[in-house]
Amino acid sequence: MSTHDDAILDEAAHWRSRDLAVLWHPCTQMREHPDTLPLLPVARAEGAWLVGHDGRRTLDAVSSWWVTLHGHAEPRIAEAIARQARTLEQVILAGCSHAPAVELAERLLAIAPREAGRPPLSKVFYADNGSAGIEVALKMAFHWFRNRGDEPRRTKFVALQNGYHGETIGALSVGDIPLYRRIYAPLLMQAVFAPSPDAYLARPGQSAEGCAEDAADALAHLLDAHAGEICALVLEPLVQCAGGMRMHHPAYLRRVRELCDVHGIFLIADEIAVGFGRTGTMFACEQAGIQPDLLCLSKGLTGGFLPLAAVLATQAIYDGFLDDSRERAFLHSHSYTGNPLACAAALASLEIFASDEVLARNRATAARMAELVRGIATLPHVAEARQTGMIVAFELAPGGDRRAAFDPARRVGLRAYRAALERGVLLRPLGDVLYWMPPYCIDDAQLALLADVTRAAIAEAVA
Ligand SMILES: *Cc1c(COP(=O)(O)O)cnc(C)c1O
Repeated sequence: MSTHDDAILDEAAHWRSRDLAVLWHPCTQMREHPDTLPLLPVARAEGAWLVGHDGRRTLDAVSSWWVTLHGHAEPRIAEAIARQARTLEQVILAGCSHAPAVELAERLLAIAPREAGRPPLSKVFYADNGSAGIEVALKMAFHWFRNRGDEPRRTKFVALQNGYHGETIGALSVGDIPLYRRIYAPLLMQAVFAPSPDAYLARPGQSAEGCAEDAADALAHLLDAHAGEICALVLEPLVQCAGGMRMHHPAYLRRVRELCDVHGIFLIADEIAVGFGRTGTMFACEQAGIQPDLLCLSKGLTGGFLPLAAVLATQAIYDGFLDDSRERAFLHSHSYTGNPLACAAALASLEIFASDEVLARNRATAARMAELVRGIATLPHVAEARQTGMIVAFELAPGGDRRAAFDPARRVGLRAYRAALERGVLLRPLGDVLYWMPPYCIDDAQLALLADVTRAAIAEAVA
């Protein structure tokens, strides 16, 4: 090996040790670094590739935690941010206005899900990450009833079992993933959890739609039992992502919409992960033909370049805060609310959806993914392979038995993660669920690599 190669190898090792000396990584048991879990230093990225200091490429099959949409370092978004940075990098959004915030709000409202006969979403409130967006929606729903004055008991939220809405205390309160939630339970506000419509939980012989109808019936009973106590229901439409990419039939969403109307409570759609084309349509709600009262967007909103969240609300919700009293106003704020750089990135991303016909191209990519899935679905220990648009998941279970699970001590998911990384693909399983949520630019050769490596990773993990 030449001294040049040595120097490059040293560079990765150098960054690893400097990193572990000072960084505390998110969602990580730090004791697992570096021995159980390798740390991947990334020098740069382009398209679907992450590139190491040694030039080695790793396919980003998880869109860097579901944020990267069109591809890493997309030049048009990079340019839009650079242009905006030289013009107006940030300004207080209370009392001030700027074009990127206005234009982005206009564009988002124009593409938001619509339902015939229902007044459209018509106002945009910005926050700076997904969890903050959820906090905004929860507080708005609660405060709206307070402002109306006649509902002093409406202090609760309904959420779904196995749902996920973020990590801040309010967002965690409506989440139902024990690993994230259990330890903080004493700090959390009350939420009422309804059974998940998750089609993986269907009884033998039951259809996904039948399973969704059962869950909706259970929700109906729950809402009756808590009549007058609830201000809103929050859910992830079509795919419970952090809960293991569990998918459900759109019939559930139609029933939820009806039930929320009957009970006079708000429907909050958390499309933070599934929005912007992930499920095949621009927004997942479209596939059920429903429109929520509050729509939370983040993650892919900026194409994956900068943190930003948008909460879209109906005129009726907005009007509930108009008053002479400041206390009736929605006084929530974040320092970087509506940051111009983030808004410019989001506008550039939406421009790409139009100019590159992204949704049409994704249909072809999703069809290609479906073909590749067939060769993996039949492997031993794959209990289910499922897909919604650009999201694919493989549920691993001993013998492929849906009612069984691997002993957590076997760390099947972690072994798959390591096996894939050694072969040049970044998969980051959720427990024993392996999934693909690639940047939309992924091409046929990259998909073929992804499928080959997934097969090998499953074989190694379950061996
Ligand atoms: C990631 C996620 C959030 C939280 O977003 P952050 O930006 O990570 O705070 C909320 N809801 C869903 C459905 C998510 O996937």
